[in-house]
Amino acid sequence: MTSQEIKRLDSQHVMQTYGRFDVALDHGIGATLYSPEGKAYIDFTSGIGVNSVGYGNRAWADAIYAQALKLGHISNLYYTEPYAKLAELLTARSGMSRVFFANAGGEANEGIIKLARKYSHDKYGESNPNRNVIVTLLQSFHGRTVTTLAATGQEHFHKHFFPFTEGFRHVPANDLAAVTAEIERGDVCAVFVELIQGEGGVLPLDPTYVKALRELCSARDVLLLADEVQTGIGRTGELFAFQKYGILPDAATFAKGIAGGLPMGGVLAAKSCDTTLAAGDHATTFGGNPIAAAAAVEVLRQLDDDALAKVTENGQYIRDTVASWGFANVVETRGAGLMIGVQVTGTPKDYVLQCIERGLLLLTAGSDALRILPPLTITRAEIDAGLAILKEVLANN
Ligand SMILES: *Cc1c(COP(=O)(O)O)cnc(C)c1O
Repeated sequence: MTSQEIKRLDSQHVMQTYGRFDVALDHGIGATLYSPEGKAYIDFTSGIGVNSVGYGNRAWADAIYAQALKLGHISNLYYTEPYAKLAELLTARSGMSRVFFANAGGEANEGIIKLARKYSHDKYGESNPNRNVIVTLLQSFHGRTVTTLAATGQEHFHKHFFPFTEGFRHVPANDLAAVTAEIERGDVCAVFVELIQGEGGVLPLDPTYVKALRELCSARDVLLLADEVQTGIGRTGELFAFQKYGILPDAATFAKGIAGGLPMGGVLAAKSCDTTLAAGDHATTFGGNPIAAAAAVEVLRQLDDDALAKVTENGQYIRDTVASWGFANVVETRGAGLMIGVQVTGTPKDYVLQCIERGLLLLTAGSDALRILPPLTITRAEIDAGLAILKEVLANN
C-alpha cells in the first residue's frame, strides 16, 4: 500500500485519538526507518522509548520466531521457561526481589498502586483504614487509565472522564518539605515518582532530594515507588535509573523498552513488599506472554555492560554536540543517557515538523523541550546524520 492509501483507511476506520504526523512507516534497519515510498528517517524516537535494540535486529527477531513456533501463549495458570528466566535476569540485575509481569506501562502502574495500598492495608488497615493516599509529583505522567490519569500530576489530564480514582495528591518535584507535610497528615501509603520525568519535559529529580526522600519514606514505612516505564531498561545508561541515583525503591514499574517492541511491562518489588500481592490479588491474561518474555530475555542479553556504557557515552556526545553549536534558541540540554531533553525557545512541535520534512523523527516533552529517545543501539554515524538535520533546523529558526 502507498502512504496515501494507508492514511485514507486510517482516517475512515480508526478512532482519531492521535494527532499523527503526516508519515507512514514500513520498515527499518538499525535506527533508520523507511516510508512505503522509500523515504529515509533517522529515528530519535524509538517508538517512544520502546525499540531499545533497533529495527531489523536479527537475534531479537529469531528469539521471537523460535518462541512463536514452540509456544506463543498459555496464560498464567502454567509455568514457562522464558517467563522464569526473564524474572531471574531482571531481579538479579536490578537488586529487586520479585517481579509481576503485565503488558504496558499504565497497567504496570495500576499494579504498583494496588501493591502499595494492600501493603498499607495489611499492616495498618485496622488502626488507620484511610492510610491509602499516594503522593505523586507535579509534571509527572503515569498513564491513561482512569486511575493512572488521577495519579498523573498535570491538571490538563484531569478532565472528561469523571469520576477519577480517589486517593492521589500531587506535590512539586524536589520539594522535600511539601512531601513531608503530606506524609504528616497520616494517610499516605506511598510516594510514586519518575526519577526523570519524561512526558513532563525530561526533568531529572535532584539526587539529594531523591536520597532524602528514600530516608523519609523508610522512616515512616511509606513505600517509595519508581515509575521506570520510560527511564528503565538501559535508557539512562544503567538498567534502571534508581541505580544511577544509588537508591533502592520499594517497588518499580517498567514497560516501554523491555521487550524491544513487543507489549510488555511489569512491577519489580524489593524484599520489603515482595509478598504483598499473593495468590488471587492480582492477575492479567497476557502478562509474561512467552513470546514477549523471550524477546525481553534477548533484549537484556544485548543490553550488557558494554552496551550500557555506550548509551552513557553517546548521550553525552549528543548533549555536548548540541551545546557546542551555541544557538540562542537552545536554552539547555538535560537528562541522562539516551533520554535527552533539549529546551528550546519557540514551539517544540514546529521544530519537530521541520525535522520530519528533512528526515529526522524527534519527540517533544512538556511545553518547551525537544526529546531525543533513540534506539539504545544507535550508531555514531546515525547520531551524526540526525544531529546534522537538527542543527540545520535550529539554525533556520
Ligand atoms: C509511557 C509512560 C507510561 C504509560 O505507559 P503505556 O505503555 O502507554 O501504558 C507511564 N509512565 C511513564 C513514565 C511513561 O513514560
